[in-house]
Amino acid sequence: MPLLDLPPWILTALLAPFGLVLGSFCNVLIHRLPQEDPAERDVITRASHCPSCKARIKPWHNVPVFGWLWLRGKCAACGWRIPFRYPLVELLGGLILGGAHWLFPFGTLIWLKGVICGFALLVLFFTDLTEMILPDVLQFPLMALGVLFALPQLLFTDRTVVILSGHGLSNLLAVSLWHNGLQPAPAWSTFGATLTWKGSLLGLALGYGGPALIALLYKAIRKTEGLGMGDFKMLAWLGAFWGWGPMLGILFLGAALGAAVGIPLMLIRRTGSQTMLPFGCFLSLATPLVVFFGRALWLGYLGWVR
Ligand SMILES: [Zn+2]
Repeated sequence: MPLLDLPPWILTALLAPFGLVLGSFCNVLIHRLPQEDPAERDVITRASHCPSCKARIKPWHNVPVFGWLWLRGKCAACGWRIPFRYPLVELLGGLILGGAHWLFPFGTLIWLKGVICGFALLVLFFTDLTEMILPDVLQFPLMALGVLFALPQLLFTDRTVVILSGHGLSNLLAVSLWHNGLQPAPAWSTFGATLTWKGSLLGLALGYGGPALIALLYKAIRKTEGLGMGDFKMLAWLGAFWGWGPMLGILFLGAALGAAVGIPLMLIRRTGSQTMLPFGCFLSLATPLVVFFGRALWLGYLGWVR
């Protein structure tokens, strides 16, 4: 049941600008959350300022993407070169919000889940890439949220429930309860097409516990830290969001991507096995691949093993 019966392109045109603004807020989170000083971590009350000279940013210079183009990528006050990351994150934000309804039925719980997961991965990818930090302040609420998404199943036994019907935006809160798993749903038939609250809790527990065990073994054998605690927390909320099966897929695909990038890097830099890689970046990249192509990847893998 599509919201407002708008053509998807119109919906994209309406939502993408809000996505750009959310992307701009993601830039604030990416810059401020990894800061040591609590005052610098404030993402709500502090006005936008240049990270280099601390000058306040004029509102018209703060318009997503266009502000960066207008300033030709330089701070108006001090000439600091604004990293390309800023307009890139804004564009990706526009893409996530403007594009999610092409993949998930708009206005449903699975759509909201996809959007939240997309923005969370966007922020975590860049905090890990730039500072090797996956902030707890994001990851713990995401764990709770992942489990909460499965809760309506316990409250309503009908397959579909419409909340707030007959209010203009009638389908905005239309909740396809049993559509709360992976979309396209049949893609993960190996692990069940829908995600139950048990699958979500198991994903949370295994996401945290599985790698923690591996890391203990790794530490015992290699005497160094291979994975950071932030990585387990990320797997935990991804498990709560998508279930234990896809979470394992994300872990293995993330590790494979990490090895594909890390091993050549070690050879070039000659740093040996001590090279630290931002594993959260690889988990971020692996997640959409597993969510959308998980079944194809799994069947391909089975075919290749046999
Ligand atoms: Zn400046």
